[in-house]
Amino acid sequence: MMRLPPFEYRAPVSVADAVELMGDSGPDAMLVAGGTDLYPNMKRRQFEPRVLVGLRGIRGLAGVRGSAAAGLAIGSGTTLTATAAHPEVAAHYPALATAAGLVSTPQLRNVGTLGGNVCVDTRCNYYNQSYQWRKAVNFCMKKDGEICLVAPGSPRCWAVSSSDTAPVLWSLGAMVTLVGRGGERRIPIAALYRDDGIAYLSRRPDEVLTEIALPPADGVRSVYLKLRRRGSFDFPVLGVAAALRMDGPVVREARIVLGAVASLPRDCVEAGALLAGERLTAERIEEAAAVASRPSKPLDNTDLTHPYRKKMTRVFVARALRHLAGLPVLADDGGATA
Ligand SMILES: Cc1cc2nc3c(=O)[nH]c(=O)nc-3n(C[C@H](O)[C@H](O)[C@H](O)COP(=O)(O)OP(=O)(O)OC[C@H]3O[C@@H](n4cnc5c(N)ncnc54)[C@H](O)[C@@H]3O)c2cc1C
Ligand code: SF4
Repeated sequence: MMRLPPFEYRAPVSVADAVELMGDSGPDAMLVAGGTDLYPNMKRRQFEPRVLVGLRGIRGLAGVRGSAAAGLAIGSGTTLTATAAHPEVAAHYPALATAAGLVSTPQLRNVGTLGGNVCVDTRCNYYNQSYQWRKAVNFCMKKDGEICLVAPGSPRCWAVSSSDTAPVLWSLGAMVTLVGRGGERRIPIAALYRDDGIAYLSRRPDEVLTEIALPPADGVRSVYLKLRRRGSFDFPVLGVAAALRMDGPVVREARIVLGAVASLPRDCVEAGALLAGERLTAERIEEAAAVASRPSKPLDNTDLTHPYRKKMTRVFVARALRHLAGLPVLADDGGATA
């Protein structure tokens, strides 16, 4: 049985206290929300914080405010279950409801939070292993080692952004609020992520992510498709989030964001530009799907082979766009789990 390492647990009742505790405790401190990712990682010694600052006792961090017409503000402590079930989210931001509802298992979604999902650690087959396993291969640079075992000559870590909701929130143009000793700042969620498997967030060490804000739904159509081995529960090895703002039958604005193919969600800017001002015909969809698969560059460090995940990017983007266009989603296009 794997045991947690010793740590001191602090339970602030306000964001300001949490920020102070993080600032005072320095680099040895970490925030914990639901703990569904952090605690298992601590048991494997991927993280060994001396102090854990728990966010569950902070009133006001959970809950959804606003409306689809004016925009929604989702507290970072809102559970994934509550996010997926919220009527405004389900009706007007269906991709977010789908993504939140596909994370892990019902038990973990009842405890795991949206903020924790946005900030969840990157993953790699050589890293998400027990301490003994990692020790047997002499560790890697993400924790305890010197080199990258996936790309030994590489100066960086290529661990994979594996959050289901991150690509969706990016595609919807979400903003996140961070509160730290330096004050409060509100940034596009795209600016939260960095292309680095270790330093994957631009969050400062003392900052707490307090809120995720969605712009007015304003007729935006959205969808999320997830590729994974087991439909019951598994991290994504490919996620496709697509959001289209329509002007009648014409696409006014399109954003397609891929999950689990890089150390951060990948915005398929070219494919989005290709769709803007166009009708969603079957031909245009195929063209956009082919272009969208270009920035998909999975490596051999998650489940399923990387050439297959690359190939499935085009298939899943086409399926997503066909769904949004109201076209039948083809069953014989080589795809597996959606
Ligand atoms: C078996 C299993 C299957 C899983 N499957 C999936 C899956 O399919 N898809 C998926 O996306 N995830 C999956 N997860 C990971 C995890 O359960 C979810 O990502 C969950 O949403 C994490 O939320 P949490 O509140 O439990 O985060 P925690 O575990 O508490 O924290 C996760 C990270 O976020 C940081 N953090 C948390 N809240 C904040 C905040 N407010 N501000 C700043 N930093 C914060 C923590 O410091 C930590 O680094 C799985 C986990 C397990 C164990
Ligand atoms: S990508 Fe390389 S450095 Fe990063 S976790 Fe995997 S093996 Fe380690």
